[in-house]
Amino acid sequence: TEFSLYNINDCITTAISLVQLRSEKKEVAVLFKPNDRLPYLKVDGHQLEQVFVNILLNGIDAVPPGGTIEVTADFDGTQVTIRFTDTGCGIPPEILPKIFNPFFTTKETGKGTGLGLSLSYGIVKNHGGSIDVRSRKQKGTEFIVRLPVGRTGD
Ligand code: ADP
Ligand code: MG
Repeated sequence: TEFSLYNINDCITTAISLVQLRSEKKEVAVLFKPNDRLPYLKVDGHQLEQVFVNILLNGIDAVPPGGTIEVTADFDGTQVTIRFTDTGCGIPPEILPKIFNPFFTTKETGKGTGLGLSLSYGIVKNHGGSIDVRSRKQKGTEFIVRLPVGRTGD
């Protein structure tokens, strides 16, 4: 993998454009306002775009037409936190511990490989970061990706 200096705003914007056809077709609005206070991070930008695409596609699957996925990015001096908040079906508590497992899917055969979150987890961990999820049934789901700035200096 290739680590170089990336602005996470650009990774998010690229990921959103990659899912745009799918989101527009389903009439799901993806909302994001780039944050001009983000530092450059030494990351594999293409792999992170893939992580954001995976999270967005899951959101599009989960949200009914007219729903939204809101993306925010913030910097607190030590890490960049990216939040994806959807107005989808939510994830039942009993399956929440399994969603990062390889091949775990609740989608019908042919619609999901169950690999998106497992691969995403590995990529983010490889960056020294973390992915967390919070969900409430019928309210929606929030995925939180945290990336440390630790690598910017080398
Ligand atoms: P796949 O999308 O192929 O099923 P993933 O690893 O991307 O595999 O996701 C695993 C499972 O996590 C999904 O099948 C779904 O049950 C659940 N999931 C992930 N994101 C969401 C979300 N935003 N809302 C509801 N369920 C979700
Ligand atoms: Mg998926």
